[in-house]
Amino acid sequence: MEMVCPACNKVNMQAAHCSRCGADLQPLAQIRRSAALALNTGTQYLKQNDGRNALRQAELSWHLKQTADAARLAFLACLLLQHFTSATRWYKRAVARSE
Ligand SMILES: [Zn+2]
Repeated sequence: MEMVCPACNKVNMQAAHCSRCGADLQPLAQIRRSAALALNTGTQYLKQNDGRNALRQAELSWHLKQTADAARLAFLACLLLQHFTSATRWYKRAVARSE
């Protein structure tokens, strides 16, 4: 997985430190792992028809990293909960992140 260095914008491939400026990229990788874990957990909740916890995990993932997948999960969770106004908002975020 490639990571853009927050200090110098160099694209790095799975490195602990930026190959240009030496910035520590591990905290960034940890945030990504946490976001992915929340997304997976939320998906499991959704499969169990637990929209409330699915939405919680989707929101956690979104706060860590704003991905289309997190927005899609939140959208589906909101549909399950019949929160259509929120579903519309998440749908727009998912579309915006997909572009
Ligand atoms: Zn760098």
